[in-house]
Amino acid sequence: MQPTISPHFTIDRTGLPPAHADALVEALRRPAAQQPAWPDREHVASATAFLATLPALVEPAEIRAATGELARVARGEAVLLQGGDCAETFAGATEAHIRGNVTTLLRMATVLAEGTGLPVVSAGRLAGQYAKPRSGITDGLGLPVYRGDIVNSAEPAPATRAPDPGRLLEAYRVSRATLDLVRGRYPGALFTSHEALLLDYEVPQLRHDDTDGRVYCGSAHLLWIGERTRQPDGAHVAFARLLANPIGLKIGPGTTPAQAATYVEQLDPGGEPGRLTLISRMGHRRVRDVLGPIVERVTATGHPVIWQCDPMHGNTHESPDGYKTRHFDDVADELAGFFEVHRQLGTHPGGVHLEFTGDAVTECLGGPGDLGDHGLAGRYESTCDPRLNAAQAVELTHWIAAEYRSGSA
Ligand code: PEP
Ligand code: MN
Repeated sequence: MQPTISPHFTIDRTGLPPAHADALVEALRRPAAQQPAWPDREHVASATAFLATLPALVEPAEIRAATGELARVARGEAVLLQGGDCAETFAGATEAHIRGNVTTLLRMATVLAEGTGLPVVSAGRLAGQYAKPRSGITDGLGLPVYRGDIVNSAEPAPATRAPDPGRLLEAYRVSRATLDLVRGRYPGALFTSHEALLLDYEVPQLRHDDTDGRVYCGSAHLLWIGERTRQPDGAHVAFARLLANPIGLKIGPGTTPAQAATYVEQLDPGGEPGRLTLISRMGHRRVRDVLGPIVERVTATGHPVIWQCDPMHGNTHESPDGYKTRHFDDVADELAGFFEVHRQLGTHPGGVHLEFTGDAVTECLGGPGDLGDHGLAGRYESTCDPRLNAAQAVELTHWIAAEYRSGSA
């Protein structure tokens, strides 16, 4: 299926200087995985054009500040804590839910700072985490798959699953409301981040900054490329190369050391500390075998990347009752493997990337309370991947802090 991107329309409106605009056109000519087949091109064109006129959610100066904080992580002087919902939803963007997630993140940051003695840089998976990569085109009912609230509705009916470009604007509006709350109530406490998956949402938010001549994506401070959209010749990597934002890249167990080194050259050509975070998500069974050679090879390039562990996405399985879940012990074991590898190689375990919520959900097994398979039905609310609840997330963070301490002992 031909992905429908609307490059010419949005490029006219980003006000990019010609060299940047040419690079953008070139990036968007590449194959873009995981894009919806918008049924109505005119509607996408008008929605993206309007999005391009709206104020950026975050300003270049704030993005530069984020890179500066992340540079401390890259130098081994700080720790990066990133997390939140797998998928934000429009209906879930309530004051209670957002406050619950942010206060949980800040509690975890406090635990980590006290436990490690290092400053903690916090980034929320929020205010834009609305687009989801999916393994199929259709679901078990034969309907178009749910791609996140920014594209269609999780409700299983033909009409609600049709991609709707009006959702691009709703995502902006809800992200703006989320940011307002975060900035008003927790000023200076955290950066925003999401997967830069949906190019029709990201491209209209490009801004050229006259003060440094660089291009920023104003949709969030930190953007990452997912495991399913990191094709080295694909549109997402080329798009990220254009940006001055800090970039994350998910790397799964199929990544070779040589590929990792190539990504690093592509995405951090300037060797800029804080620019690139490699987010390993190997699974607890593979991490001890596959991560070490990647770290060694990348370290040999001299690029100052941040090593971050996502112990969630390689450890997902289906419960007997059909719930997508993860076991706390598998998550902890992947983290243990991550710390072992970095201890052996003498590299800084830069941080962690977790899916959690402040709500008392029952989506992940084990942990405090030792949730079993039969407990999953109690309060399973995620529209995508299972999240740690607040008790599980805080418990895991104590455990992570202890790993840092044993590394520095
Ligand atoms: C995610 O972070 O929700 C995700 C889909 O991760 P990955 O790209 O690592 O599979
Ligand atoms: Mn997820």
